[in-house]
Amino acid sequence: MGERALERARDIDGRVQQGKAGSLAGVVMATKDILAMKDQPLTCGSHILNNYKSPFDATLIERLEAEDAIIIGKTNMDEFAMGSSTENSHFGAVKNPLDTSRVPGGSSGGSAVAVAADMALAAIGTDTGGSIRQPAAFCGVVGLKPTYGRVSRYGLVAYASSFDQAGPITRTVEDAALVLETIAGVDPHDSTSAPIDVPRFSSEVNQDVQGLRIGLPKEYFAEGLAPDMRSSLKQAIELLDRAGAKIMEVSLPHTEYAIATYYVLVTAEASSNLARYDGARYGFRSENPASLDEMYIQSRTQGFGEEVKRRIMLGTYVLSAGYYDAYYRKAQKVRTLIRRDFDEVFKTCDCLLTPTAPTTAFKLGDKLDNPLTMYLADIYTVSVNLAGLPAISVPCGKDSSGLPVGLQLIGKPFDESMVIRIGDFVEKQIADQQNAPA
Ligand code: GLN
Repeated sequence: MGERALERARDIDGRVQQGKAGSLAGVVMATKDILAMKDQPLTCGSHILNNYKSPFDATLIERLEAEDAIIIGKTNMDEFAMGSSTENSHFGAVKNPLDTSRVPGGSSGGSAVAVAADMALAAIGTDTGGSIRQPAAFCGVVGLKPTYGRVSRYGLVAYASSFDQAGPITRTVEDAALVLETIAGVDPHDSTSAPIDVPRFSSEVNQDVQGLRIGLPKEYFAEGLAPDMRSSLKQAIELLDRAGAKIMEVSLPHTEYAIATYYVLVTAEASSNLARYDGARYGFRSENPASLDEMYIQSRTQGFGEEVKRRIMLGTYVLSAGYYDAYYRKAQKVRTLIRRDFDEVFKTCDCLLTPTAPTTAFKLGDKLDNPLTMYLADIYTVSVNLAGLPAISVPCGKDSSGLPVGLQLIGKPFDESMVIRIGDFVEKQIADQQNAPA
């Protein structure tokens, strides 16, 4: 979007001179290619949207541009946001700039890379089951997933509508707060956006954490976690403890069901949402079909990638008569139990602290042959989406191979302020420690 960006930059320069520029004047940004920008291509990393251009702007894009941010481009992603490594794109895999033999995480891998490699100051990602937080963790940057309903989904291509939320990926927690306060707030175009006041999130930085009650869910610190990651997190926990936060062990007993519940529900929603790509209305259409049915079948067969097709089939299966009760309805009930686990712990805690992911960035190709191992990469992130909560991933040291470790903070509904406050504290304390003379 070079030309468009330069034109906007000239305009904004003028407004700066007149003292009328917006709060994000000149901030260079990128957005995941799942958000609509008027007259721009919108691919969702899929061949099925070949040559499709959006006729309108997403609300959050409108809000960023109204504050004079400059969006310089769209970023690569797992097709329709389905994946944890950004290897599922029609346009090819994204590499981690810290080690190009490794994945950047996903599905917002392109957005995390744009920030980590300093191509943009901030980028927008979306998070259905971890896609903002996990790539941020893998690339050593900050990712903030807002409460479901905090940011309008108008113009965000639907994957699983009761889970999807857009949010910022940035270098610092303060930047994430600044972007969030710009994009948040009720929108008449999205009936699920919440009519709740938007606080000045950026005023939460440089506050103390004295007396804040931080819960460590024991299920998130079980065997699976690598020892070097555990020790990075432990250091951060000690810093918080020394600063007067109250650290307490808590339990979220239904955690073990989160992955299964998530993958039943999101595939069900996706199978319905993706029915609209039929070769007739958008983008790609197969050539010379013998009949109308053939046109639908061939367009979808050729237009969607493997993972997307797997999920449409899974989702169709769990919604079909005879299996609906056993899978879909059951998963909805477990979703309620998972949400109640959080309600319960938030009676005694202000915030939860966990790892963002069970590993640091893995090698490209490592998990491609076995979808289940890829799904397991989401073990610490999906519960937050099942419960609709806000969460942030902040960098927390390095593992033994020098790869960044992500620390996740989970807040009460609409209490992004809390995760921003604690996240900013952790970020600055860790930076101080790293800069301290040995
Ligand atoms: N990896 C998860 C999935 O594939 C999460 C993706 C996301 O948050 N968009 O569904």
